[in-house]
Amino acid sequence: MCGIVAYIGPREAYPILIKGLKRLEYRGYDSAGVALLNGVMRIYKTKGKVSDLEHVAEGHQLSAHLGMGHTRWATHGEPNDVNSHPHLSQDGSLAIIHNGIIENYGTLKEALLERGHVFKSDTDSEVLVHLIEEIRKNTKVELDEAVRLALCEVVGAYAIVIISKDDPTKLIGARKGSPLVVGIGDGEYFMASDASPIVEYTKDVTYLEDGEIAFIKDGKLSIKTIDNVAKTPFIQTLEMNLEAIEKGGYTHFMLKEIHEQPKSIYDSLRGRFDTSTGNFAMRSLKEYAHKIKNLKRIIIVGCGTSWHAGLVAEYLFEDIARIPVEVEYASEFRYRNPVIGEDDLVIAISQSGETADTLAAIEMAKEKGATVFGVCNVVGSSIPRASHAGAYTHAGPEIGVASTKAFTAQVSVMILLALGFADIKGKKSKSELRNIMAELDAIPAKVETTLKCEDQIKELAKKYKDSHNFLYLGRGYGFPVALEGALKLKEISYIHAEGYPAAEMKHGPIALIDEEMPVVVIATKNAHYEKIISNIQEVKARKGKIIAIVTEGDTKVRAMADYVIEIPDAPDIMVPLLATVPLQLLSYYIAVERGCNVDQPRNLAKSVTVE
Ligand code: GLU
Repeated sequence: MCGIVAYIGPREAYPILIKGLKRLEYRGYDSAGVALLNGVMRIYKTKGKVSDLEHVAEGHQLSAHLGMGHTRWATHGEPNDVNSHPHLSQDGSLAIIHNGIIENYGTLKEALLERGHVFKSDTDSEVLVHLIEEIRKNTKVELDEAVRLALCEVVGAYAIVIISKDDPTKLIGARKGSPLVVGIGDGEYFMASDASPIVEYTKDVTYLEDGEIAFIKDGKLSIKTIDNVAKTPFIQTLEMNLEAIEKGGYTHFMLKEIHEQPKSIYDSLRGRFDTSTGNFAMRSLKEYAHKIKNLKRIIIVGCGTSWHAGLVAEYLFEDIARIPVEVEYASEFRYRNPVIGEDDLVIAISQSGETADTLAAIEMAKEKGATVFGVCNVVGSSIPRASHAGAYTHAGPEIGVASTKAFTAQVSVMILLALGFADIKGKKSKSELRNIMAELDAIPAKVETTLKCEDQIKELAKKYKDSHNFLYLGRGYGFPVALEGALKLKEISYIHAEGYPAAEMKHGPIALIDEEMPVVVIATKNAHYEKIISNIQEVKARKGKIIAIVTEGDTKVRAMADYVIEIPDAPDIMVPLLATVPLQLLSYYIAVERGCNVDQPRNLAKSVTVE
């Protein structure tokens, strides 16, 4: 969490920082701040959004060619003005911005307090800049070396940027556990949490590896590790384009991203299978075929929406490839003592590829000898780099905090992996695979058709915007969809919602049902159809209101439900790709009706790089 951006070069830094912070605001929006160096170090910071920061800074001296900015998702210390970044050293000569958690900040702080340091904030981050100052004072080393020595003492995760009043030609950045990318322009440099603040100025970037420090001095970039080993920067060309990170006429990123799903699903599937032969073109399947062939168990780890994609995948792998699957919250998995070894495959799902718990879970799995596949959206991010193999979702940048297109892209990739595994294990014939592939080819167009329910959903949203609770029910592939629908509603409209396996309703949640309770049911035509109809009857008998997602042409559920939303007919394994879409739209329009900040829901942030 937290977005960081920095600039050094001939342009005015402030507009670059503000624009960059707005692009990074999905990462946190508790507070925002900038430090500008122009003879003096000027810091403007405030609780609230980047737009609040602009008000605070307005009318002040903002001209500088070196500066850095931060948008915070608070971990240590409440979101207020003082705890906002940047933080200064005791003498005010050094400024830091930080993303992550300095876990041993308490011990470091005690030692620094004893040496007379006075802290202004409650943050862990301020301790680090004081530590650098203290090391410098005691050892008389250069700033670069003091930063390195300080980082050797730090336990935890960080991406940091540091500037010094005494050296306006220098910018220092470092990473361990939180991402940091350096942009290399013509006589100018950028640093940022992701490439979005950089892309319009340069396409040449280098992603720092964990434990690396980047020094920009007098227009030159050098990199070394915290163990003092010099590294040659690996410069790559950004593939991101500006359009992908702007709203393109939509009111919110979330709405844009919901509408992008026909394309993001298409892009995630494209080129990875051949419908005429039933063959796959995925490197992980080829390289790990021997492993997959004898695979006894898959463990899927993820958090939030990615965990829901994992649940869909559990059904997929068991159904199609006949491999037993366990799906785990990454945070729980890593802190127990799981029985896992060389025969297991761990699949880590994460949009950002930076989710701290998921990253730690796969590190543990690797230590125990398991093979790890990563399924992530951000190319070059930490999880794919830490994995043995995997497959990217090609959803493009997802900016809305509530995940939409990343989920359907994850499910698309998991369908491919499950089919590929089934192929390797001989569980599906080529002719069966060709048929399924033909159905997959049709999915993007079916998602496009599903999106046509938007006007109907707007009406529904008006009707149910004041509900206090929602229940979402599904069976089989409909169950993870129910969970995801409930999560979306909670995240952006702050209405309490529960997702349940429909049959479990009678073991508890049924007690909540009365005429006030909207119940969203995934009731598409499948093997559980008659069963789900019984569940709908049970809700109706208690006067609950039924909003049903049905297969087009359905008449049975239509006769019982208060509202039906039709989705095109599709094989059961692909239903999550369609049925999730109306639920995303429902949560979106309810949130809009309630006046909620859809792209920046309270207390949340995207890319959860803290544990
Ligand atoms: N720990 C720092 C703070 O609370 C940074 C938080 C983060 O990166 O999310 O200010």
